[in-house]
This record gives sequence, structure tokens and C-alpha cells, in this order.
Amino acid sequence: MLQTISDKVFKKSSLHMNDNRIYFDNAATTALSPEVLEAMLPYMTEHFGNPSSIYSYGRETRLAVENARKSVAKILGVKPGSIFFTSGGTESNNTAIAASIRDLGCDHIITSLIEHHAVLHTVEHYGNSANVEVSYVALKEDGHVDLADLESQLAEQTGKGHKCLVSLMHANNEIGILLPIKKVGELCQKYKAVFHSDCVQTVGHYPINLSEIYVHFISASSHKFHGPKGVGILYVNEDINIKPFIFGGGQERNMRAGTENVYGIVGFAKALEIAMKDYEKESNYIRELKLYMADQLKQSIPGVSFNCGADALYTVLSVCFPKTDRSDFLLMNLDINNICASGGSACSSGADAGSHVMKALKKDNQYVTVRFSFSKYNKKEEVDCVIQKLKELI
Ligand code: PLP
Repeated sequence: MLQTISDKVFKKSSLHMNDNRIYFDNAATTALSPEVLEAMLPYMTEHFGNPSSIYSYGRETRLAVENARKSVAKILGVKPGSIFFTSGGTESNNTAIAASIRDLGCDHIITSLIEHHAVLHTVEHYGNSANVEVSYVALKEDGHVDLADLESQLAEQTGKGHKCLVSLMHANNEIGILLPIKKVGELCQKYKAVFHSDCVQTVGHYPINLSEIYVHFISASSHKFHGPKGVGILYVNEDINIKPFIFGGGQERNMRAGTENVYGIVGFAKALEIAMKDYEKESNYIRELKLYMADQLKQSIPGVSFNCGADALYTVLSVCFPKTDRSDFLLMNLDINNICASGGSACSSGADAGSHVMKALKKDNQYVTVRFSFSKYNKKEEVDCVIQKLKELI
């Protein structure tokens, strides 16, 4: 019966099976994988118990939540007690920043101008309060964090008696630049700073062993790696103590009240298990697609350049097209031609407000930037088709 439901759902709606659109916006969100749906379906139907109920219906779903937590913790190299399920990357980022200020005594935040808005707007919010100052780390031309500047800011602020929170993303969702997270952790350790990293674009895309990194908080979100939307995790290092993020019924070991999103949590764990099991194969496949597209673009479109080098996130190809009358409408024309790509992060492309990342890197006036981002469901023929269209549209 469940098999039939999932077959039907996937036959009818799956964008990667029966659709003539080309979806190259996997950094915004990914398609739910059929195996993940299979794992979730029983928790939408027969296993509907509230995990807080003590009778059998509740015990079944409690077990599912705790098994999911164990599985996620094992993959990330930490204890289950340090994993808290949330509603996604945004909530996890908000929580980590708020808790650092409220519970860990941080009064200075060091972040970067190219963070996701879930960090930037949270930092701005607290930065407007009297007791918290914010500074932005210098970025190199390509968007990499200038580690020397980070160290000098940490030295200056701790020298003045401030306790710092460093919030820097592991991979930038628009241009794919990767942070040397271990090195940043070492600097934070040296200056006794709290370190939060938004890992929304890397958890599920790289093996990450948190026991080898000096980090207090990381955020992740399952819809970026073929899991369901509306579920994420916040990792909280067991060496720190923070107060509840949401008050109420005491779920998530009293830290985040509210009846658990059981099928979402099951889906998160299943998606992560699949992503890590197939990591070598799928990451090589996706990397090759990206390199193929970059090569084809270089050969076909004069003046094209890229925002990230070979060491960037393998799922993202951020392309600078020379500004012309035609390229100004590129995203719209791609959409008309059934090609889904993005100009920036999902929220800013929806509002067409331009990319704050391109602005911070001072590239917004010279180029029209389009982010193509790939998943295991994309095909080389789709790249060929997009290149063909681009030749006509540019
Ligand atoms: N951080 C980064 C780097 C992201 O790419 C996103 C998603 O767009 C988020 C945070 C927000 O995550 P969520 O959609 O789960 O709230």
C-alpha cells in the first residue's frame, strides 16, 4: 500500500523523472529522494503516535526519533546528546547566535558580509542592541575569508576584554567558496571564542567529523540533500551549556519544546545516511557535471568567467556573464525556456533584490551572475541543452 502511494507520488510529480524542465538550482533546494519518502511514509500513516506518549504508539515514534538522532550523531562523529532537531537551517542559525549572546556571554560578533541572511539578519538584529558589537572579517577578492584579518580582529577584541562569537559559513550558497573550518576553529580556540558555522551547504555533501573540529555550533538542513523541507539540526558542543531555545513541553531534552516533526526527523536521518553511503560516487558524478558545464561555457560564450575556483563546493557553478542588454534578462529568459537557475539565494532571487554576496565582492555592476547548482539527478544532456539555450540567449 505504501509502496503504491510512493510510486504514485513519484510518477506524478517527480521533477527528475518525467518533467521537461531542467532543474539546476539544487543549492536552493533538492528533490526528495524516493527512498527518503519510503522511510517517512509509515510515520505519516500508521505510526502517528506522539513521541511523548508512554503507550506503544508513542514508544514507536520515540524510538524512530532517537534512532534518527543516533544515526545523525554517528555520521557527524559526535554523541547523540549534542544533536537537536529543529525546523531547519534558519532556526538553527538563529538559535546558535542568540544562545551565544544570552548564555555564553558573547558581546562581540565577527562574521562576514557574504553569510546567508539567516545569519546576517540575526547578527544585525543583535548588533542593534546596546551590548553587542559586530565586525565583518575582510574577504579576499574571490570571497575567501582573510584569516590574518580574522586573527587580528580576535586578538584586538579579546585584548579589550570582549568575548567573541565567530559565525562563518562552511560553504557559501551562492559562489561555493569553502571555509578552512579546522583552521578557523583553531583560531577560535586560541582566542577562547565561540565558533558557529552554518554548514547548510556542506552537511550531506561532505563527510564531516565534528570531533576533529573545534566548533561549538553547526547548522544543517535536510532539504539541501534530498530530504524533506522544514527539518534541520543544531549541533551543540557538549562542553557548553545553553538554555532552552523554545519553552513549553520539554521536548528535545528540554531544549526545544513542541511535538517533534517525526516524519521530518526520520527523513533527515535517512537522507543523510544515503548521502554519506553514496558520497564518493555521487560527489564525483556531480563534480564532473559541473566541470563539464564550465568547460562548455568557456568554449561557447565569449567573456564568461567563474566566481569560484577548483577548490569550491562541487555542487555550485557560479557564472559571470558579461553585462549586455540581452544578458540582463537572462534568468527570466532561462525560466521561459524551462531552465531553473538562480541569481542568488532563493529568497533574494524571488524578490529580485540582487545578490548581497555579489555586492560584497563588488561584482554586481560588472556582470550578470547566474548560479547553476547540481544534484545526482542531473544529466549531461541537460547541460548540453542549457548550453545550447545560453548560446541563443546571450
Ligand atoms: N544557510 C544557508 C547557507 C542556506 O543555503 C540556507 C538555505 O537557503 C539556509 C541557511 C536556510 O536554511 P533553511 O531553508 O533550512 O531554513
